[in-house]
Amino acid sequence: TLCCLQVIKYRAAVAWAVGKPLSIEEVEVAPPKAREVRVKIVATGICRTDDHLLGGLFPYVEYPIIPGHEGAGIVESIGEGVTLVKPGDKVIPLCHPQCGECNFCLNPNSNYCIKTHFHEPQNTMPDKTTRFTCKGKQIHHFMWCSTFAEYTVMPEYAVARIDATAPLNKVCVLGCAFPTGYGAAINTAKVKPGSTCAVFGLGGIGLSVVMGCKASGASRIIAVDINKDKFAKAKELGATDCVNPKDYTKPIQDVLTEMTGYGVDYSFEAIGNKDALIAALASCNMSTGVCVIIGEAPAGTLLSVDPTLLLTGRTWTGTMLGGWKARDSIPKLAASYLEKKFNLDVLITHTLPIAEVNKGFELLRGGKR
Ligand code: NAD
Ligand code: ZN
Repeated sequence: TLCCLQVIKYRAAVAWAVGKPLSIEEVEVAPPKAREVRVKIVATGICRTDDHLLGGLFPYVEYPIIPGHEGAGIVESIGEGVTLVKPGDKVIPLCHPQCGECNFCLNPNSNYCIKTHFHEPQNTMPDKTTRFTCKGKQIHHFMWCSTFAEYTVMPEYAVARIDATAPLNKVCVLGCAFPTGYGAAINTAKVKPGSTCAVFGLGGIGLSVVMGCKASGASRIIAVDINKDKFAKAKELGATDCVNPKDYTKPIQDVLTEMTGYGVDYSFEAIGNKDALIAALASCNMSTGVCVIIGEAPAGTLLSVDPTLLLTGRTWTGTMLGGWKARDSIPKLAASYLEKKFNLDVLITHTLPIAEVNKGFELLRGGKR
């Protein structure tokens, strides 16, 4: 119908330049073009990746931009040729899309897609134009999601349709934090029952790793963070030991190796810190240990590693969105949440209106969420 094809004026949080707080603006969003959908965003989480964006740590991003990539909403209108969703469908925007056609999408063992931002900058829609305008200026998209807005436009293969009964204010964390951390343990590391795990960093991602290790039957889960306020929740979710590197003078990898004899079976870095990346690798056992990189280190970071750490047989790998093929798997995770197979509610520490988005970032930076 015609009403669906109009430009909509709505509120969004715009980052005009690096280092500036977000400003709430009235933004115009154009109708979706062919194979695109316009989504009314109902809820969104704040991930550290959004903070990295505000701090200018992503070289490929263009400002002004609407950040946010961990949301949930309802399809408001669809462009020509859209077959995957229809207006009224509840959806999760995908920061890691699944085009379904590329070599990676066709490979059952991969969750990569050539439509991710590593391959194709997602500052504009695939036709190289943006759908957002504010004060006469084009506003860029972020990972095609731009969920810090009341409406967004995305390619149809970058949204996952979920159950109509899913509570959007809870399942928004299925857009990033939960599948990334949980999948890092169960898909990427394939944690075995009875094993020992170490999780570095206990933000939304690290806590989800703890849940994944617990669900996999790990017998010991060592949670590592420099903020001791994070330990209570980690314990509630299954951590058996909590370690604060600040309490020791020796390197944290030595502490973990002593605690476990030869190092853990699986280690996870969910911080994005140069030293912690190496410490996590050195903390897993020298032969069969597996270390998974989840944290995103600032662009340009280079690591210097003693090759002996790998020579003895350790496996060093990484994960994007926890290895899930997003469009296929996020709906299944939403269904499992509705069946109470895991708890997403613990990941939600505060609920704020969009006008207070900067307060949300202050809470994140202050370690309060
Ligand atoms: P967060 O900031 O909420 O959590 C990070 C935690 O690490 C905090 O609790 C902090 O106290 C702790 N920490 C900081 N420095 C530390 C150190 N030296 N030793 C031990 N603990 C330390 O972040 P988050 O939202 O959970 O995201 C974690 C990382 O994952 C970020 O780098 C983010 O960009 C990345 N990420 C990756 C993917 C992916 O698909 N691979 C997806 C989303 C986010
Ligand atoms: Zn693909």
